[in-house]
Amino acid sequence: MRLETGDGRLEARLPLSIDWEDWYQLCLPGFERHEAFEDRLARATDLTLELCSDLGGKATWFCLADQAKRHPGLVKRISDAGHAISVHGLTHVRAFELPRGTWRQNLTEARAYLQDLSGQPVLGYRAAEWSLRGAAETWWEDLPELGFTFDASRAPLKVLGDPAWPHRPHRFSNGLWELPPPVFGPMPLWGWGLRSLPVNFTRTLMHRLAEADAGTPLVLHPWELDEGQPPLPEVPWGHAFVHKAGLGGYGSRLRRILRGLELVPLEAWVKDAEARHRYSGGLEPTAP
Ligand SMILES: [Zn+2]
Repeated sequence: MRLETGDGRLEARLPLSIDWEDWYQLCLPGFERHEAFEDRLARATDLTLELCSDLGGKATWFCLADQAKRHPGLVKRISDAGHAISVHGLTHVRAFELPRGTWRQNLTEARAYLQDLSGQPVLGYRAAEWSLRGAAETWWEDLPELGFTFDASRAPLKVLGDPAWPHRPHRFSNGLWELPPPVFGPMPLWGWGLRSLPVNFTRTLMHRLAEADAGTPLVLHPWELDEGQPPLPEVPWGHAFVHKAGLGGYGSRLRRILRGLELVPLEAWVKDAEARHRYSGGLEPTAP
């Protein structure tokens, strides 16, 4: 979809998602201990709000409820700035590491807390580290019952998910919308992938997705904009690479990549898709 702007320019839209967590929140033993690491979430949140404001965009912030309890004022600022609040978890633990009942209870608690704090309906979920996979692969079935309209936890990539999963937004038989992140072959078009590829190339890819209104949300973490963050303690090579590759100057490169696009919360994209779904008599692509 191309949208007319006030000055007659045409903009294409791209959903923007922000996984609101601090720089040290890897899914590794020991990294869940907040007290062991420098708290840089306020600084990183400021940088991310500034990026959105510079680009004139709004985003969905997938928030961790435990960080929201430590920083309630930050969540209110994000919400008051016109962004949408969704759930990244009660804590940053992978879904498949929990019993299903505990995962459900945690999500219910996190959603209720974030809803009370932000004063807005909380409709979306993204599991920590794309963890609706493995033992948790079918747990999206529970999300409508827990109050969610959409999920964005299933990455069509090896290791994080499955390349055979749909690469475009689709609707499950229970009505839940799934918005997978964009990929380029075996690479994620976010995080280390987007940070490492040449700017002109990623700008072209992002603009093509936006012009097609593909609905594949760009994924950003506030710490990716924080160039003053300390080095990670010793971690496995893969984790270190994914965290550090291309971090320097990412904020200014992102501004060049995204300039000219209308950045929207996932909620807005889903709302329009719902309307199209009704008008088309339910002909949107669906998955089992
Ligand atoms: Zn995360």
